Amino acid sequence: PAAVGVLALQGGVAEHLRLIEGLGARAVPVRRERDLTGPDGPRVDAIVLPGGESSTQDRLLRLLDLAEPLRGAVADGVPALGTCAGLILLAREVLDPAPGQRSLDLLDVSVRRNAFGAQLVSHEAEFEVGPSGIDGTEPGGTVRGALIRAPEIVSVGSGARAIVRRDGRVLGATSIEGDADVAGHASLGRVTGIAFHPELSGEPAIHRALLSRIPR
Ligand code: GLN
Repeated sequence: PAAVGVLALQGGVAEHLRLIEGLGARAVPVRRERDLTGPDGPRVDAIVLPGGESSTQDRLLRLLDLAEPLRGAVADGVPALGTCAGLILLAREVLDPAPGQRSLDLLDVSVRRNAFGAQLVSHEAEFEVGPSGIDGTEPGGTVRGALIRAPEIVSVGSGARAIVRRDGRVLGATSIEGDADVAGHASLGRVTGIAFHPELSGEPAIHRALLSRIPR
């Protein structure tokens, strides 16, 4: 089976591991460089960046010298999905970073942190999938997830497209790699970020779409 790495430095790791295993893939916690890359290239076929606290995750990534290997693996072609804090790490720009906070600049979006208020209790909701959104959902259908101190995607650059919205606000975007993706149908790009937590709602569609991105 495919091996899906889950960045396991801080935050909601276990739910992602469980959801990935439930979809028939092998879930691999990633804590250091050798969990991610070996002598022959990436050890994982895809990678998930979980929710948590993005400024803490950013600090740990750099402290452990994992930021560059992670960025390199994704830049070299490993498909990636970030949820919530993971979206913030993937973003090109964080409009309101914590002091010293950086991002990996792997998805052409600008995000604002904590854009929906400081919900301490998870707030479950349905999110609208765009017409060319996500494999396995109805065109114009919905996905479920939880909003927990979620970021908002404030702008989407030319290298990405919005895939999930709620009340007109963008809560998910995916990268555009080339003509195939622009013209393409209901597939995710290589790098996807969503502001909510499907893994806390048992929503498999987005992780399933990530698995379908793995070349076989
Ligand atoms: N507010 C958090 C941050 O800025 C994200 C919250 C989450 O991942 N659930 O990183």
